[in-house]
Amino acid sequence: RAKSEGMGRCAYFSPEVGVETRERTRLLHGLRDAFQHERLFLAYQPQVDLASGRVLGFEALLRWRNDDGTFVPPDRFIPLAEQSGLIVPIGQWVLRSALHVLAVLDREGFPGLRAAVNVSVVQFREPQFVESVDRALADTGMSADRLELEVTESVCVLGQESVAVQLGALTRRGIQVAIDDFGTGFSSLSYLDRLGADRLKIDRSFVQSLEQECGGARIAEMMIALARRLGMRSIAEGIETEAQRQRLAELGCDEGQGYLFGRPMALDDFKAWLKAWQPGIA
Ligand code: C2E
Ligand code: MG
Ligand code: MG
Ligand code: MG
Repeated sequence: RAKSEGMGRCAYFSPEVGVETRERTRLLHGLRDAFQHERLFLAYQPQVDLASGRVLGFEALLRWRNDDGTFVPPDRFIPLAEQSGLIVPIGQWVLRSALHVLAVLDREGFPGLRAAVNVSVVQFREPQFVESVDRALADTGMSADRLELEVTESVCVLGQESVAVQLGALTRRGIQVAIDDFGTGFSSLSYLDRLGADRLKIDRSFVQSLEQECGGARIAEMMIALARRLGMRSIAEGIETEAQRQRLAELGCDEGQGYLFGRPMALDDFKAWLKAWQPGIA
């Protein structure tokens, strides 16, 4: 295409673009290699009932550690994994690992927790997605109601029939669905209603603006009310202060997640956290 723009112009092959592409290719090779050699792992972040402090479950968050001990943040490698399709096998692995951890926690004295797993819209486009979730549940012996799939608003925006059909099949099985980062995209409210999701996940940006004067609390309040009117529960992400927790509880938000309660942790740390956690003293 650069050629068709005429001689002497290299719109698509400027040095910066070349560097950017090479960097992405390098990163993608690294990711594939890390996945193959089991250098990806999961961190577990607690989700709690805001009123009582009771632990409800965890969100599984993907981590990639380099050999030198540095981390590549998910916001950098997840988009690459999506563009390359690598998110499909990686997502499968995340799902199975999270369900397996539920089974481990059941045995080790923390029964009945829920696992929330992030699912990319790319995974939803796979016709065999529902079947692969079924198999993961069967192989780990987990009932469907122990699993929550977090999807972003882009799933709603797409409004694709195939996505709606897959979501319907999942919720009919009793699998829970949460709309992640709610308020940052542009979901159609009527589509949101028809989607039949169980939970609205209020984005961190609204939680952070709670304590500011200019209407941050009003928006959070509106989203919590919207969730209730649509028969969904609400969960706030990125709660860092006791003031935020209290305000959200006052506004009627059901559940929360954030550094105030616990950071995303390796499994052993998460177990220790579960053992030490006392509802009521965040
Ligand atoms: P997300 O699903 O919205 O996850 C919440 C993010 O907020 C996580 O970032 C978490 O570490 C961070 N967080 C939690 N509590 C706090 C807090 O109190 N304060 C602040 N400042 N941050 C908090 P993380 O782990 O970097 O993940 C970023 C995003 O990458 C996730 O956003 C999710 O969209 C994506 N992601 C992570 N794991 C997976 C995965 O297995 N599959 C897919 N498809 N996406 C994933
Ligand atoms: Mg999430
Ligand atoms: Mg989120
Ligand atoms: Mg977010």
